Amino acid sequence: MKILVINAGSSSLKYQFINIDTKEVLAKGLCERIGIEGSKISQKAPGKEEYVCVSEMKDHGDAIKMVIDALTSDKYGVISKMDEIDAVGHRVVHGGEAFNESVVITKEVKKAIEDCCELAPLHNPANLIGIEACEKIMPNTPQVAVFDTAFHQTMPKEAYLYALPYEMYEKHKIRRYGFHGTSHKYVTQQAEKLMGKDISDLKIITLHLGNGSSITAVDGGKSIDTSMGFTPLAGVAMGTRCGDIDPAIVTFLMEKEGWDTEKVNAVMNKDSGVYGLSGLSSDFRDLANAKEEGNERASLALDKFIYTVRQFVGAYSVAMGGVDGLVFTAGIGENDAMVREEVCKNLEYLGVELDKELNNTARGKGECFINKEGSKVKVMVIPTNEELMIALDTAKLV
Ligand code: AMP
Repeated sequence: MKILVINAGSSSLKYQFINIDTKEVLAKGLCERIGIEGSKISQKAPGKEEYVCVSEMKDHGDAIKMVIDALTSDKYGVISKMDEIDAVGHRVVHGGEAFNESVVITKEVKKAIEDCCELAPLHNPANLIGIEACEKIMPNTPQVAVFDTAFHQTMPKEAYLYALPYEMYEKHKIRRYGFHGTSHKYVTQQAEKLMGKDISDLKIITLHLGNGSSITAVDGGKSIDTSMGFTPLAGVAMGTRCGDIDPAIVTFLMEKEGWDTEKVNAVMNKDSGVYGLSGLSSDFRDLANAKEEGNERASLALDKFIYTVRQFVGAYSVAMGGVDGLVFTAGIGENDAMVREEVCKNLEYLGVELDKELNNTARGKGECFINKEGSKVKVMVIPTNEELMIALDTAKLV
């Protein structure tokens, strides 16, 4: 079975065409600047020349047409006709409380996704446009929605409710939703295989550390708490997002700086995190280089990031009454040995014993253990693969 995975953003559309039987990526590509001058599609397929085409894409419908043309092209493509696409899996950022798993898209499902637009105003409308564009061009191909929030719907009430007046939850659906669910779910499934144990017996902390970072407590295969909240702004200090701060700072800043809601939102989302603290970069490679050269604020930014990550490791070990495995994933988690070492430092009391040699040589090895032999807690690096997870869920449903 072959699945087309679509991740539609406001002006971009990423896609992968995956053979689910071999887990092979047959082609992957990106449409950029949709609706903006200079739209462009690029596609890579193993054994084929890279395809790049600058061509007007007025909307996501045009983009999907370009994707199909690229996939079916004699020279660059990998299929001869469209009906070789058995199903389409769509990444949808917010499923609110309506979805605790992936679903085949129907009229009702689209309405529910639309209802969640105010919870994810930058993402859900784009995801819906992507879905509708595919429906138009492939009316007989089943479409599936895979939600970033679904995996976290198993959190207990005390974990997902904020201590605000209860009516705010009833009226505005204000609660913790959590994000990166597809990634946390994927690495959990892979950790189960790697550890060779039944997931129902395992307490795992999954650390998705990338430009956006989130940490999840997975007890018996279920998310019981996660660091992102009502929005992806909460939790650890991130590339440019502030993570958890005292909520009173928001109104204080609005008063003192004369900022409106848009400005204060922009500062917390785009000018904060390790970028804001260092004044230098949101990229951990830049920060590590600057620290090496004696830049104190780069060093402070890295320390703050690591400190906030460790806080969640501690909190979730307590929430689960112990921990059997730590899983590092995403850009930083998969590549940055220094961050992994610092996060695991002095955690012997929890049963975490990192093997420095294995940690330093983990890059490029794929899924691997980086703990010392005999370490009570297994420490793993597991490259995330959200597209494959979306394809697997899609195949299962259709
Ligand atoms: P992601 O959002 O998962 O794509 O992660 C992107 C982030 O991963 C970048 O901003 C970098 O901070 C970090 N990253 C990527 N490669 C490396 C590397 N080799 N060493 C350290 N950090 C890295």
